[in-house]
Amino acid sequence: MNKKDSGTDRRDFLQSGLLGTAAAGLAIASTSHVTAQTVPDALEPEVTNDVDVLVVGGGTAGHVAAIQAGRAGAKTLLVERGAQLGGTTTTGGVSFPGLFDAWGKQVIAGIGWELVKESVELDGGTLPNFARVPQRHWQNQVLTNQFLYALLAEEKCTKAGVEIAYYEFPQAVTKTESGWTVNCVGFGTRRRVNCKQIIDCTGGAEVVGMVGFSRLREEERQPGSYLYRLGDGHEPGRTRLNRLYVHGADSTNSRTVTVANMTGRMSILDRVRKEKKRLTHLQPETGFRESYRIDGETLITVNDYTSGRVFDDAISYAFYPVDLHTKTGVRPKPLKPGKVPTIPLSALIPKGSRNIIVAGRCVSSDRLANSGLRVQASCMGMGQAAGVAATLAAKSGTTPLEVPLPEIHAVLREHGQIIPGRA
Ligand SMILES: Cc1cc2nc3c(=O)[nH]c(=O)nc-3n(C[C@H](O)[C@H](O)[C@H](O)COP(=O)(O)OP(=O)(O)OC[C@H]3O[C@@H](n4cnc5c(N)ncnc54)[C@H](O)[C@@H]3O)c2cc1C
Repeated sequence: MNKKDSGTDRRDFLQSGLLGTAAAGLAIASTSHVTAQTVPDALEPEVTNDVDVLVVGGGTAGHVAAIQAGRAGAKTLLVERGAQLGGTTTTGGVSFPGLFDAWGKQVIAGIGWELVKESVELDGGTLPNFARVPQRHWQNQVLTNQFLYALLAEEKCTKAGVEIAYYEFPQAVTKTESGWTVNCVGFGTRRRVNCKQIIDCTGGAEVVGMVGFSRLREEERQPGSYLYRLGDGHEPGRTRLNRLYVHGADSTNSRTVTVANMTGRMSILDRVRKEKKRLTHLQPETGFRESYRIDGETLITVNDYTSGRVFDDAISYAFYPVDLHTKTGVRPKPLKPGKVPTIPLSALIPKGSRNIIVAGRCVSSDRLANSGLRVQASCMGMGQAAGVAATLAAKSGTTPLEVPLPEIHAVLREHGQIIPGRA
């Protein structure tokens, strides 16, 4: 056969052409190599975990809860339906967490702050000066690099001994004598988790709903937002993103999230065509402001929130204006000078429950209080407290609400958190 006409030669030519392009830096910027560990029994579709603490949802509150539980000595599994940690902070693109300070001093610290600070420092960014009271509340939000943040969160989980199960979510939850059995599913994986405590950090208290405790939901909810960037010069962690309000966005289930995402994306595609600008950044999904809140042992009212009530069982501060987004936008109502709201442990506990605690935007609160409580520093504070309470409950064979509060405070302080009334 004439060698010049053979298919092999043609493939060689094509390949060397591609390699040549790569080498010249046109197809790809650079190539490096790393080898993933072999997963034990990777072809086995069924796995079982026996753990102290199961955290469901690795978002803003969830990864902090898991790191805290791991650091406090609990055998911890974190189940996250997505591909990375951080939730709304990273996948949603709301990478400007706040507020860690109030009236000239830091009021929320601990693991969330450790992550935010480290990601800004590693990124060569700038941290706000908390000694200065800003003119507008958002000036003290911390611009972070969402990509770096997700990597650091994962590293800290791993270092704390937390096992992470991505692409999985609970399908069935049953009560047992010593806690719960949670059947989770992912592609190619069915996981049975026997745990003593559950921390529900799914944003909308999905596990609480599955086990049948009541949840609160409004007829009309705040819009979600799809974040993106049109035009050149975008730098993660430096420049701010464009916001598209997605009215009617609903994070209830895969069907409602699919509709919200597709609605957002189609509208952005429209804009690209109309404005004839480059699409230089697009988050993978919508950020959801509001869905379900738990009906907890304590319900934080807007009066509790705006008056800065210090609850007897306070485990964290919170700080943000009352911030309800509507069809016409948002008019934040700043808190009165000196007021710093607090979050009680009992607002993280579904009424009448044992061995389950929540953290994040689903905190038990009325709608207006929730519009301020839902922000990231507060969610991180709740996550850390839930991590401690669940760990101590697992160790002593009790439920989070029965763990003596001074013990929870002591562990929180040991891990860098600021306790209301003692700052
Ligand atoms: C557009 C927008 C702008 C905002 N602006 C600000 C701001 O400027 N500053 C600020 O601090 N806050 C802001 N917030 C509020 C704040 O970002 C969120 O309220 C907060 O991040 C919610 O944290 P969370 O942990 O409750 O939920 P999320 O961070 O959403 O985490 C939930 C996690 O659970 C996972 N999950 C859900 N269901 C399951 C399941 N069944 N199984 C497994 N995993 C599951 C999700 O994938 C996700 O990772 C904004 C929010 C939005 C949407």
